[in-house]
Amino acid sequence: MIIDCHGHYTTAPKALEDWRNLQVANLKTPELGPKVSDLKISDDELIESIEKNQLAKMIERGSDLTIFSPRASFMAHHIGDFNTSATWSAICNELIYRVNQLFPHQFIGAAMLPQSPGVDPKTAVAELEKCVREFGFVGLNLNPDPSGGHWQEPPLSDPHWYPIFEKMVEYDVPAMIHVSTSCNACFHTTGAHYLNADTTAFMQCLTADLFKEFPTLKFLIPHGGGAVPYHWGRFRGLAQELKKPLLEEHLLNNIYFDTCVYHQPGINLLTEVIPIKNILFASEMIGAVRGIDPQTGFYFDDTKRYIEASTQLNADERHQIYEGNARRVFTRLDQYLVKQGH
Ligand SMILES: [Zn+2]
Repeated sequence: MIIDCHGHYTTAPKALEDWRNLQVANLKTPELGPKVSDLKISDDELIESIEKNQLAKMIERGSDLTIFSPRASFMAHHIGDFNTSATWSAICNELIYRVNQLFPHQFIGAAMLPQSPGVDPKTAVAELEKCVREFGFVGLNLNPDPSGGHWQEPPLSDPHWYPIFEKMVEYDVPAMIHVSTSCNACFHTTGAHYLNADTTAFMQCLTADLFKEFPTLKFLIPHGGGAVPYHWGRFRGLAQELKKPLLEEHLLNNIYFDTCVYHQPGINLLTEVIPIKNILFASEMIGAVRGIDPQTGFYFDDTKRYIEASTQLNADERHQIYEGNARRVFTRLDQYLVKQGH
């Protein structure tokens, strides 16, 4: 199997965006805002939005199943208050659940959390519980910066985040560390803020002892780990100066990287530097980079091509990246697949 562990519902019917725009327009007058029941999207509309887009590309490129979550840039946790985010995340998660029900062999859910700047993360636990227990989701996206580029929350190693970590450990669900839209003009959302956050999250874990506290906690750092693999020597050296254990022992039983690196040299570096057991296949299509690479003639986000073309990987390593690691990290996904006969 080829499991794509990083997909977002970027192609949801426009009614969703219209509903959100109304919600945002009425932040100060929520009584005038749209009700949840005002959003009407039929199964046929969901099917069309998936079949024409993500599913078409999965078939064309040859991946089998996508771990699917709400559109990351639309989470926009900085907008409004906790209630704004709670209603919005519940709506977005339900759509993901419906996609899973309509395409049970191709899509499985990962939750968006109702985070809000300055609000205790324990308020997000109920939505996570619902998504795992009722919707059968196998993972979640955790935003380390719900302020949208102003970094006002404590680092991920701070007990501030423990209520979410405790629930993740209880359910054995991994979190993709994923920020949302930048509202800081200094940081382009997908070109800077995302990669900064990936790097920042890794360094927050490096300087702390979070995984001593939570030995079974699992983070997936997307976008190939930001700057981490490229600067692995710097991080090893910093860990040494901080008298931390070797990174393999300190972080690599808990931190994983995806393959959303959109060119061959980047994938070559990732697979040379990071142990294969820590790399999970992903494309994040249809996402930040939707064009065709003029150097290759193929879509930048057709990441399977880079894994296939790698001269460093053997068949067993490819299998780990495509399927084995994902099933080991997302244990609920493994159980789901076993039930389907995989
Ligand atoms: Zn993403």
